[in-house]
Amino acid sequence: MSLAAGVIRRLDEAVVNRIAAGEVIQRPANAVKEMLENCLDAKSTSIQVIVKEGGLKLIQIQDNGCGIRKEDLDIVCERFTTSKLQKFEDLASISTYGFRGEALASISHVAHVTVTTKTADAKCAFRATYSDGKIKAPPKPCAGNQGTQITVEDLFYNVNTRRKALKNPSEEYAKILEVVSRYAIHNSGISFSVKKQGDTVSDVRTLSNASTVDNIRSVFGNAVSRELIEVGCEDASLAFKMKGYITNANYSVKKCIFLLFINHRLVESTALRKAIETVYAAYLPKSTHPFLYLSLEIAPQNVDVNVHPTKHEVHFLHEDSILERVQQHIESKLLGSNSSRMYFTQTLLPGADCSSSEVVKSAATAAAAPKGAADKVYAQHMVRTDSREQKLDAFLQPASTALGAGPAEARAEAAAALPEAPCDVEMEDAGAAADQRSAAPAAGRSESVAGAAEAAPPRKRPREDPDVEMERDDSRKDMTAACTPRRRIINLTSVLTLQEEISNQAHAGLQEMLHDHSFVGCVSPQWALAQYQTKLYLLNTTKLSQELFYQILIYDFANFGILRLSEPAPLFELALLALEDPESGWTEEDGPKEGLAEYIVEFLKKKTEMLKDYFSLEIDEEGNLTGLPLLLDNYVPPLEGLPMFILRLATEVNWDEEKECFESLSKELSMFYSIRKQYIVDDTNLTSSQAEDSDSGSTGWKWAVEHVVFKASRTHLLPPKHLAEDGNILQLANLPDLYKVFERC
Ligand code: ADP
Ligand code: MG
Repeated sequence: MSLAAGVIRRLDEAVVNRIAAGEVIQRPANAVKEMLENCLDAKSTSIQVIVKEGGLKLIQIQDNGCGIRKEDLDIVCERFTTSKLQKFEDLASISTYGFRGEALASISHVAHVTVTTKTADAKCAFRATYSDGKIKAPPKPCAGNQGTQITVEDLFYNVNTRRKALKNPSEEYAKILEVVSRYAIHNSGISFSVKKQGDTVSDVRTLSNASTVDNIRSVFGNAVSRELIEVGCEDASLAFKMKGYITNANYSVKKCIFLLFINHRLVESTALRKAIETVYAAYLPKSTHPFLYLSLEIAPQNVDVNVHPTKHEVHFLHEDSILERVQQHIESKLLGSNSSRMYFTQTLLPGADCSSSEVVKSAATAAAAPKGAADKVYAQHMVRTDSREQKLDAFLQPASTALGAGPAEARAEAAAALPEAPCDVEMEDAGAAADQRSAAPAAGRSESVAGAAEAAPPRKRPREDPDVEMERDDSRKDMTAACTPRRRIINLTSVLTLQEEISNQAHAGLQEMLHDHSFVGCVSPQWALAQYQTKLYLLNTTKLSQELFYQILIYDFANFGILRLSEPAPLFELALLALEDPESGWTEEDGPKEGLAEYIVEFLKKKTEMLKDYFSLEIDEEGNLTGLPLLLDNYVPPLEGLPMFILRLATEVNWDEEKECFESLSKELSMFYSIRKQYIVDDTNLTSSQAEDSDSGSTGWKWAVEHVVFKASRTHLLPPKHLAEDGNILQLANLPDLYKVFERC
């Protein structure tokens, strides 16, 4: 073996250029992207691409832009020639795609380039061919329309290795289609087309009068375009703007489709993709992903524009804060997105404890975990990972077993006590047969009018087998996606303002806590315990459920299902019942109750159209209540509160101003729907026979708190700041703090 030192030689300039060019243009799609950007820089409104053999044989791009002046044709393919930048300082405010004059030069070092171009004031077009950055002969006059046509032939003819690496023309063609269609979506108002040479039909084609959504439809199909939500936000302090379209929870695909443009350039940002996917994780079935098209505009001085053309992955200043803002915005849009979101949640609600996997995930990334080399987690930082493992109830003697009465018996007895069929309220889910609760004193009363009903009994549902649940989830989702009615788009300023007020009030920390909490148990009808990371919280269920239902009413405005009462409830009797309640504050001076009740019926009858249309509150011509809004699946409001709700509907709602009306009406409805202790019988105070009867009922409310209210709060609630300040959400303990106490002992 010879150990003689190698001789160092200067490489031939053409070789240097070719190596450099190979870095800029790695495959045909890179060349297409660069040339498209040139067309856009030239203010074209129509761009046509013709390709042969995946672009390896031919790429031809024709535009109708400003053209290139004849004088410039000599140097257009030389390195560092550009019409877009003169001084270094210009870089900071660059608004064109190109600025470094490198693309055409690079292409001409690895392919045969022909430029045919005509400016507006030239009498004819000129054509020139280039190789290795140099013009081969003076430009020749020829016929041509205004604009530029650039032909790239035999790409990589002089780079053997690269040519060999790109053996699959159809793969390269697919890449070209991808690039062009993405630019087409981002540039609505400009028509694009791509086809293979010799074909009559284009594989991608957009029209200049098409909207962004039209373009998404024509590229990605109806399945995507009909589930799109428009997004848009901006933040002056972070100097960025974002807009685009994202799919709602109805749509999911195996692989995330993410069209990201930053300052109109197609780029990639793994950080942004991850941030958004985290938000979607709460909405989409496991290992499925959304479609996203986002256009970010960031102050040019905050993005490094001077990135190498092949570096698609971008970074920018204030990246974390911007990501957080985008995340928040997307979350709020998804929350308010659509009625079928409810259907999707429904599939999760009936006992499906899919949360355990989330909990494991959040525990694994728990911020509290110390970052030691060995990743040791100290006891005080350990987080319980499976919320099903030990609920508060596990420590208590269940009333029914203590009393020796099985739930089935209790139900049979309850049903026998009632003349009617056991199901008084119909819900979407026919399997959710309603249980009667005859022991509740208030129930007995309203039953004479409306017939009390109770949401689905939890015990009937398979809760422990995650596989079974996942399957059901998928099938239900497909089914509902197919038959979900179209969502009505609400553009009422009043409603949009109310939505905005909710999102402005949101507390990010609480939201995170609710999103990732493990439910511990109900302390009472009013209070429940939840754990988040190493902390234990006490939450006011009444306030939480009230806020949750209020937000659903505002965000899903005019898009509710209906809970139909099997027997119409006369408003007159409901109003009368309410007036008899001391809580109504009725006095002799108010006049006879019957007269007032009659007035209330007449008054509400005038509002039926609006109540039905916007709130799914149905009142028939005789003045009977026949339907209530279905706000969350498997949840029926405690109907004992119905009389008072009807009274307050007539007396407490501001019927004069649109926004105030929707707001106060939603407040009244959410109060009626909330979990309130006066309408829940606590079994500890009952005699044994009452306890037997109420068993299913009391399990009912606890089940509803955990599986309806808290579950829905994970994703559907933007907790307002005041909940953290007024004692309705209290942190009781923090594990590491408890350890400190022990250490001192
Ligand atoms: P850059 O875009 O960075 O300026 P390029 O190598 O891509 O560099 O292009 C060099 C120059 O050629 C541009 O500055 C522009 O003046 C001209 N040019 C290229 N393509 C077109 C086109 N389609 N229409 C008009 N001018 C073009
Ligand atoms: Mg360019």
